[in-house]
Amino acid sequence: MKYISTRGKAPELTFEEAMLTGLARDGGLYVPETVPQLAPEEIAALAGISYEEAAFRIMRPFIGDAFTDTEFRDIIAKAYAGFGHAARAPLVQLGPNHFLLELFHGPTLAFKDFAMQLIGQLFQVALRRRGERVTIVGATSGDTGSAAIEAFRGLEGVDVFILFPHGRVSEVQRRQMTTPIEGNVHALAVDGDFDDCQARVKDMFNDFAFRDDVRLAGVNSINWARVLAQVVYYFTSAVSLGAPHRPVSFTVPTGNFGDIFAGYIARRMGLPIERLVIATNQNDILHRALTTGRYVTDGVKPSISPSMDIQVSSNFERALFDAYDRDGSAVSQIMDELRAAGGFDISQGALQLLQDTFASGRASEEETTATITQSFAASGEVLCPHTAVGVHVAETHLSATPMITLATAHPAKFPDAVEAAMGARPALPPRMADLFDRSERVTRVANDLSALQHIVRERIAN
Ligand SMILES: *Cc1c(COP(=O)(O)O)cnc(C)c1O
Repeated sequence: MKYISTRGKAPELTFEEAMLTGLARDGGLYVPETVPQLAPEEIAALAGISYEEAAFRIMRPFIGDAFTDTEFRDIIAKAYAGFGHAARAPLVQLGPNHFLLELFHGPTLAFKDFAMQLIGQLFQVALRRRGERVTIVGATSGDTGSAAIEAFRGLEGVDVFILFPHGRVSEVQRRQMTTPIEGNVHALAVDGDFDDCQARVKDMFNDFAFRDDVRLAGVNSINWARVLAQVVYYFTSAVSLGAPHRPVSFTVPTGNFGDIFAGYIARRMGLPIERLVIATNQNDILHRALTTGRYVTDGVKPSISPSMDIQVSSNFERALFDAYDRDGSAVSQIMDELRAAGGFDISQGALQLLQDTFASGRASEEETTATITQSFAASGEVLCPHTAVGVHVAETHLSATPMITLATAHPAKFPDAVEAAMGARPALPPRMADLFDRSERVTRVANDLSALQHIVRERIAN
């Protein structure tokens, strides 16, 4: 299995190389050259087996010979051992034909643990075999950073630096990043918003001398291995509702387009998904792009669902690459336009292809809060604000086809928004109850490339 860049100019890589690299050197994102297919019988055979065994069968065709079957089974087993639910991704019913896929039973209470726990184990095995060290640098709007730190804390061969927007993550998110005591963990509070953090990380990757010198590796949602890990729960949930014999639809609270792109890959692999519904908060660039054909950035408006406060949705480039018939130079051109002019028009043909697969909707702040209140009254389910955005949008797309909305975080990760809607604060699971008593370790940094590079060099030298 070979991986190619969405901009057509970077070298082809193996799964392991693409995973260790993150962003391609031409600025693009790696995608598999072809998408492996699962036959209907293979999909049907996933019914009732463990999450780990399903994960092995679904991901195996993508990894080539990077890991032996025994190694890969062991990696998967370790990745999900720390989850607080035996099903890993249990499904509950919200109402007629509407289901909630709970993706918050991992160690940091958000769906990002599914990918990050796996990637931590994959890195560990690959680096040990190569006898190498890497420096992981990532930007976070809150959940990626905590998941990355949790996955890599104390692992050999890795230093992890996480940039988060100062004052714009929830206290639980911040404490999950600043309280680990391991010396290989570095939490950096940047004076800027999430897009600034993401832009500085991209700048570090585009500074090739720095990139090679510190052996930079990326685990942001652009990393292909993360997308792959997320493909699994689309299969397990659809199969438990009758796939491949019965189609399903999904609604996905979306920011960087990583999670929903995994659903798109599941569909391309042969899972009968009727619609993939993009749910955005008031930062609705994707909803506007899909309805108007114009992708224009508009400045981030902080919301009560901060992990989706994003204007440049990185993984959307992967969907555009397919919509533009895998023409890397066409993708390069529109990405240059985005950088220079803050927007671009999606061609008529590409827009049509995107609209055949994706639908979209947005939830205002008021609608998000009202959905938390109503959902608790109707079903007893306490939703985090991101999940509430999804449920609100899903309700306008219900049909005869079962709808699965992804519950992307545990409500206790966003207690202020939940309290405002329900009058009560959701409790943290007992295994994290002492989070507020642990001491914090964080470095405040200006939104400045050379200041950040200086910190990275200094810390890895020690
Ligand atoms: C990261 C995140 C999202 C958005 O996921 P993308 O893959 O960036 O689209 C939604 N909800 C929560 C809770 C998240 O942490």
